[in-house]
Amino acid sequence: MKKTILITGGSEGIGAATALLAARQGYVVCINYRQNQEAAQAVLSRIREGGGEAYAYQADVSDEEQVVRMFSSIDREVGTLTALVNNAGIIEPQQRLVQMSAERLHKVFATNVVGSFLCAREAIKRMSAKNHGSGGSIVNVSSMASRLGSPFEYIDYAATKGAIDSMTLGLSKEVAEENIRVNAVRPGTIYTDIHGKAGEPNRPERVREAIPMKRAGQPEEVANTILWLLSDEASYITGALVDVAGGR
Ligand code: NAP
Repeated sequence: MKKTILITGGSEGIGAATALLAARQGYVVCINYRQNQEAAQAVLSRIREGGGEAYAYQADVSDEEQVVRMFSSIDREVGTLTALVNNAGIIEPQQRLVQMSAERLHKVFATNVVGSFLCAREAIKRMSAKNHGSGGSIVNVSSMASRLGSPFEYIDYAATKGAIDSMTLGLSKEVAEENIRVNAVRPGTIYTDIHGKAGEPNRPERVREAIPMKRAGQPEEVANTILWLLSDEASYITGALVDVAGGR
């Protein structure tokens, strides 16, 4: 059976590294992005140049209509999904909780939490053995922030990742009998543009001394763990939260 994967936020950073590795492992790759079409096209080009098959879908994962439309388009144009990586996520500029507006909180929770729930819902409808699906595997991209709490930086972001951890635990049990595994990776500090978008591009260098391995991680190191969790090598693993954080 053809292995088909959707990676939300697959145009940059950890998502792009995951898309490139998935293609090398023989997946037909669908990447989702919100606005940066150029970055999405660059990932598609690299996969196609390597002989792989890849497609890009623009959709804001926090918007239910756009998510439903994206999954229907994939059904029509690519085929049945066997894997989902809930990777799209945002961080707003560093602030103490006492400064946070409701607008900011709604935005971060809508993207990081509601987006992951909606995509998981649509994937499960298609994968579930109860719906005559062939099963599948989901990996949620959480963060070490869920355990550390991100004080003085972004407690809101950390709390969204706490929600993702809980969702992973609950959902893995709900769908275990439907031939679907659900796991999460919890990256520590990884070299991507997300830190610049949150106002501190050099954050990985600033925090490296607090990391037992004394370095930030590369997106490919997270991608390796995601692809392993998706694979049959992890066939008896579900509901796991796997830290990829240099010992933090
Ligand atoms: P990134 O480089 O900023 O990439 C984020 C990706 O998500 C982009 O492709 C972006 O697309 C997409 N995206 C953002 N909002 C979206 C939305 N509403 N709908 C669809 N796509 C959306 O981030 P990253 O560092 O690779 O992070 C990826 C995941 O890893 C996130 O969940 C993040 O929380 C998690 N993580 C990162 C780190 C780290 O240190 N980098 C650590 C722990 C966890 P557009 O550019 O088109 O908006």
